[in-house]
Amino acid sequence: MARRRQALQAQQVPLPARTRIMTVVNQKGGVGKTTSAVNLAAALAQGGARVLVLDLDPQGNASTALGIDHHADVMSTYDVLIDGEPLASTIATSPQDDKLQVVPSTIHLAGADLELAGMERREHRLREALDRFLTETTVPPHYVFIDCPPSLGLLTINAFTAATEVLLPIQCEYYALEGVTQLLDTIDRIKAHLNPTLDLSTVLLTMFDGRTLLSRQVVDEVKAHFPTQTLEAIIPRSVRVSEAPGYGQTVIAYDPNSPGALSYREAAAEIARRGAA
Ligand code: ATP
Ligand code: MG
Repeated sequence: MARRRQALQAQQVPLPARTRIMTVVNQKGGVGKTTSAVNLAAALAQGGARVLVLDLDPQGNASTALGIDHHADVMSTYDVLIDGEPLASTIATSPQDDKLQVVPSTIHLAGADLELAGMERREHRLREALDRFLTETTVPPHYVFIDCPPSLGLLTINAFTAATEVLLPIQCEYYALEGVTQLLDTIDRIKAHLNPTLDLSTVLLTMFDGRTLLSRQVVDEVKAHFPTQTLEAIIPRSVRVSEAPGYGQTVIAYDPNSPGALSYREAAAEIARRGAA
C-alpha cells in the first residue's frame, strides 16, 4: 500500500488535449457504474484535471456522492434534456473539489425516457447541449463523465450519442458478462446511425474479491474478451467505498489512502495515460 501510494504521488498525470467525454454504462444494475464515475472523476480532479459529471440516472446517486443537492426543484439534466436549458446554468460545484463540477439529476428524470420518445431530435439532445457548452465556455473540462441508469433506453442513448468513449464497469460476480453482447450490439447500432466515432475504450473490473476463485475467473474471462480495453487496475470490494456516499463523499475524499481509493486513483491515472498515448 505504501509503495502504491508513493508511486501515485510520483507520477505526473497527463491532461488530454481535447475534452474526453466518457459515458459509464452497463444495463445491469448495481455493477459499480456510479461508484466508478464519481471516484474516477474525483481522482482525475485531484490529479489536476477539470472534470464535469453529468448525472443521467433518476436515482441521483452520483449527485449524492459528489455532495450535490438534488431535490425536485434543483436545475438538472432533466431541464437540459427536456426543456433545452443551457447546460451552463445547471452546473453545480462539488464541495469536495472546485475542479469537480456536476449537473445533478432529479426525480423528474424518471419520466424523461417517455417524454423524450415524442420529441424532435430525441437521441441528440444531450450532445447538442454539451457541444454548445463546450464551444461557449472559456474553461472547458478535460473530462466529462456521464453516469447512466441501468437500461438501454433513450437516456443512455443520449449519453452514447454525446460521448467520445464508453467506459464499461464489470462486476467480478456471477454472470459478469451477461448482457454484454446486447450492449455491444447497441454500441454498433449507435456507431452506424448516431455517433460513428464512439469507442468502447475502457473496461473496469469492480468489486473484486481476491479470496474467491470466482473473482479471479471473471478477471481472466473479461481480459480474454476485452484484451486491450481492460484496465490493469482492478477495484477491490471494500467497505470504505460503499460507506462514502452515506457521507455525501467519494472514497477519494472520504478515505484517500484506503485500498478502494488507491485502486480508483490508479485506474484514473491509467485512463489519463492511455488517452495521452
Ligand atoms: P445502478 O445500476 O443501480 O445505477 P450502479 O451500477 O451505479 O447501480 P453502484 O451504485 O455504483 O452501481 O454500486 C452498487 C452498490 O455496490 C452500491 O451500494 C455501492 O456502494 C456498492 N459498491 C460499489 N463498488 C463497491 C466496492 N468496490 N466495494 C464495496 N461496495 C461497492
Ligand atoms: Mg448508478
